[in-house]
Amino acid sequence: MLAGAALSAPAPKQTSRPNIVIILADDLGYGDLGCYGHPTIRTPNLDRMAQEGARFTQFYSAAPVCTPSRVALMTGRLPGRSGLTRVLGPQATGGLSPTEITIAEALKPLGYSTACVGKWHLGHRPEYLPTRHGFDSYFGIPYSNDMSPKTNPTRQDGPLTPLIRGDKVIEEEPDQNFLTQRYTEEATKFIRSSAQAGKPFFLYMPHTFPHVPLHASPKFRGKSPRGLYGDVVEEVDWSVGEVLKTLREAGADRNTLVVFSSDNGPWLIKKEDGGSAGLLREGKASTWEGGMREPFLARWPGRIPANVVTQAFGTLMDLFPTCVKISGAKMPGDREYDGADLSPVLFENSAGREPLHFYYNAEDLRAVRKGPWKLHLATNEPATGGGLSKHEPPLLYNLTVDPSEKYDVAAANPAVIRDLVGLIGQHKKTMKFGELQR
Ligand code: MG
Repeated sequence: MLAGAALSAPAPKQTSRPNIVIILADDLGYGDLGCYGHPTIRTPNLDRMAQEGARFTQFYSAAPVCTPSRVALMTGRLPGRSGLTRVLGPQATGGLSPTEITIAEALKPLGYSTACVGKWHLGHRPEYLPTRHGFDSYFGIPYSNDMSPKTNPTRQDGPLTPLIRGDKVIEEEPDQNFLTQRYTEEATKFIRSSAQAGKPFFLYMPHTFPHVPLHASPKFRGKSPRGLYGDVVEEVDWSVGEVLKTLREAGADRNTLVVFSSDNGPWLIKKEDGGSAGLLREGKASTWEGGMREPFLARWPGRIPANVVTQAFGTLMDLFPTCVKISGAKMPGDREYDGADLSPVLFENSAGREPLHFYYNAEDLRAVRKGPWKLHLATNEPATGGGLSKHEPPLLYNLTVDPSEKYDVAAANPAVIRDLVGLIGQHKKTMKFGELQR
């Protein structure tokens, strides 16, 4: 035996299928991380994750608010297909239909251990919780952290914020200052035990923060030059660092895909308590780029080349087909998918597919992007209190040269307008909505 071997921990059993970790921030903007150019928020762990893997500059969510964005991530399909087009509150009776297939359900038959830690937001009644949708365990607050009488003066009739384990409420109105810590403890425990058991694992970790109201633990509070919002993002960054450290210590580092993103853009009406979309226009609840273009980092040492900054197009709906592909599962053949496998971009740094994205706000198709062109049929300006404006003729922007959507070039490009209007017509004809969930 080699001298060093006796001192090291027993080698974990190698699993042939890769582990998958999806970490999602809530309402984090395109411009809120150090590696995306924020001048004062410190995110050393996410910056290092970007250096060790790929950082995307043209990556989208499927909706500008929580619930529809998350269902699209979890199912690989536009939110309308599941009927989860709007944010669910504590009084909601709807949720994720048992007929939808989640990433966890796709991986489960292959022997994966599955855990969801954090904000689910696809229905809080027992039948809609993660444990009914392919997850072995769930720990977290099932919807937003501003939906109880204690956290929101407009919700005086509602229930207290539940903290759930499995399908049982274990606490009401938990101290939000410690949520990120507690989520992190739960997630790292799951990684350690799965690695020890020699089973491949899937961890879905949708953070509660930096959604308002902002809370950070004493270790982070008052520390960021950016103020409380910075404290909260820096604690989420710490959490990512803990997850990566645990993967390394568990010997799972080189067999695990880790991705990090956000569900929608920054909540700009919250002013200093909201984030930044960087150079992008508008934020949460709008179909301008700031509402739906997100940071996206992917890391898998030995598989994803280091130090890649890619302009390849991608969406959170790509995670379902990508997880299916790398795990060796099969895409279900009985339904429409809107995402595509990202493997060629991740592993070969290929340029990827031509951008094609439909920007929905609830059931309303507001804009479409094809290639560099984005056409808006209607826009709203939640940050400044502006209502809905319909555009006839539509607005047209070239996102490659004008990512901030400042210069409408519709008049000079009638053929592009015709093409994109045709595309919208075609999409509307084939798009089938599920029963709307409220
Ligand atoms: Mg959100």
